Amino acid sequence: MRPKLRHDVVFLDAPAGAYLRGPDNAFLIKGRSAFRWLTSLSPYLTGEHTLAQLTAALDPGQRRTVLTLVQALLARGFAKDAGDRSPLPEPLARRFAAQIEFIDHVADDPTGRFARFHAARVALCGGGPALLAAASGLLRNGCVQLDLYPDDGPAGYAEALRPELAELDADGLVAQVRFPGGPPELSTVDAVLCCAGPDGLARLAELARAAHRDGPLLVPVTWDGDRAVVGPTVAAGRTPCWHCAQLRLAAAADPAVAAEFWRHLALGGPPAALPEVTARMLGNAAAFELFRALTGAVAPDTAGGVLLLDPATLESTRERVLPHPACPVCREVAVTEPAPPPASDDETYQRAEALVTPNAGVFTRFVDDPLEQAPLKTARLRLPGRRGPREVTAFDVHTVMGARLAAYRAAVRDHAARHADPAAAVTASAAELRERGEHPVPWRELVPTAAPPDADTRRVPWLPATVLGGADRVLVPAAVALPTSAYNADGWAEPTVAGAAAGGSPDEMIDRALADALAYHALLAALRGRAEARPVGEEALVADDDTAFVVKAAHRFGRRLSVYALTGAEPAHAVLAVAASPGGDDPDWALAGGYDPVATRLAAVRDVVGRAQVRHFEDAVADLGDPVLRDLDPAALAATAGPAVPAGAATDRAAVLAALARRGMSALLVETTTRDVRATGAFRSGVVLLRRPAPAAD
Ligand SMILES: [Zn+2]
Repeated sequence: MRPKLRHDVVFLDAPAGAYLRGPDNAFLIKGRSAFRWLTSLSPYLTGEHTLAQLTAALDPGQRRTVLTLVQALLARGFAKDAGDRSPLPEPLARRFAAQIEFIDHVADDPTGRFARFHAARVALCGGGPALLAAASGLLRNGCVQLDLYPDDGPAGYAEALRPELAELDADGLVAQVRFPGGPPELSTVDAVLCCAGPDGLARLAELARAAHRDGPLLVPVTWDGDRAVVGPTVAAGRTPCWHCAQLRLAAAADPAVAAEFWRHLALGGPPAALPEVTARMLGNAAAFELFRALTGAVAPDTAGGVLLLDPATLESTRERVLPHPACPVCREVAVTEPAPPPASDDETYQRAEALVTPNAGVFTRFVDDPLEQAPLKTARLRLPGRRGPREVTAFDVHTVMGARLAAYRAAVRDHAARHADPAAAVTASAAELRERGEHPVPWRELVPTAAPPDADTRRVPWLPATVLGGADRVLVPAAVALPTSAYNADGWAEPTVAGAAAGGSPDEMIDRALADALAYHALLAALRGRAEARPVGEEALVADDDTAFVVKAAHRFGRRLSVYALTGAEPAHAVLAVAASPGGDDPDWALAGGYDPVATRLAAVRDVVGRAQVRHFEDAVADLGDPVLRDLDPAALAATAGPAVPAGAATDRAAVLAALARRGMSALLVETTTRDVRATGAFRSGVVLLRRPAPAAD
């Protein structure tokens, strides 16, 4: 035991003893002599002396006092056991005392960790003042074996580094800075640091691929006129990688800026100069990231993240980078999911925050601060879209957090519909799959019916699905499961998000998706006259307080509300709500499915009145996520005349599945959780498809 007092602890003489204060807490050691003991002991609590050495000359009573004192300091976190130090040559320990002290402050074995950094050989490539600053930063912090591959030739660098090398030499330390020439030799170094402007992007991208494949650790630095980025560090076989970050940063950027970035990466770009001070900051930051990574003292900020620096203001921010589902380099690497699933909406909300950052996020930011929050609470989430940003809006009767969770669910659902794991797909024809003993579900048995003419022999991607309520595993055409993705480029399946849902837990996701699939089924059946759409009177709606509140809001916005219960979803509930101007113009509609009749009515009415609220205050049409039906004309729904019907009883998943089974139908779940969302543990997403016996050939 080598006790070491924290350097940020202060102690004061108090009437009852010694009062100690640290950065997070404070406490009192009782006893009149406590302060005197601390004063005389503290100069020796440096981690260099063992407890036995400290107490060797004391009598038994004094020894007990010192032991009690040290134990109290350790218990409160005011001191730590510095352990045994790895031996370090005296000139090294003296020159790099500050670096060793830094490591000691945050981790164990400071000398051993520093020795690893000191012994590392690092390759530096790219060019410009950032590269020079990185080399100089490494030398200054004790990493003294550098191989430099500057694009702009060795002369300037050798000259500029001469003073650093002379200082090390004067301290009796051997440093070796080489300029091997040719392409960087990666197999003989412990890490590589690359500084690239637009003209060096292509090579950095290659380096990032190589580092992900076989190592070594890569610290990338890039810049253009508007922004400089350090990280993410790339380690062999790890995710996220540098390419993940570029996909994120480009998606959130202005489309023209993104196009220029990819053009530079693919075809090369012009050199871009950096202000001297910015370049120095970048190089130093990169060198420090390498110090953190190689000593292992603290995780680098750029492990799974990027440091963004604005060259104009010198403001810097760190953003987390999540593994990108479409990353060509690391998408095969499994991500670990925080387990278990969130236990409450609060926890889901907290975890989901990891998805939202302005430059590198899956989603960009909430932009609902300026929105009117009455009568309905309104959330709006901005996210990168295919052609510029998109803003998804959602509503809640009670809280903004409830509305934001709904916005997350819609955004996660649409994100998954576009990016669901391509690795899970198998490409084959149905006939081939059957020969292999697999169970492909014929296109025409899936709702909605869609099938290419040569459905049995056409080779297409298939995705695994599980039969809800059972253990069977089947395969479904990816085009039907993900009809808004590139899988459906031929357009055989209806481009709908019906049956797709996100939820905080697998159960929540499945319940939402199943109810949603049934609601869509019921809507199609009603449109085709195969099931009823029964009007729900206002009297029935206002029996529930929350729904009454929303109906009142519809009146306030001058919208005429029509609500229909769709019987085709039974025993689950499906409700279509339509709100139009008194003349019937600008109809908005919303479809909801659920197990509880009152909650389902409320959900449909809430969303359609939310749309009316956005029309009223913003004179705009709200985007609630990808639509269930692109061109539904609610007037096409021939409502069954007749008196209002009772709401029906609440049901559950088991009852719904049993009812489907009685009709010869089943529900198939395709899990679509993307690796970025999975890494946060906030949501699961999936698609439920209804399977029914194939209709007789026409
Ligand atoms: Zn990647």
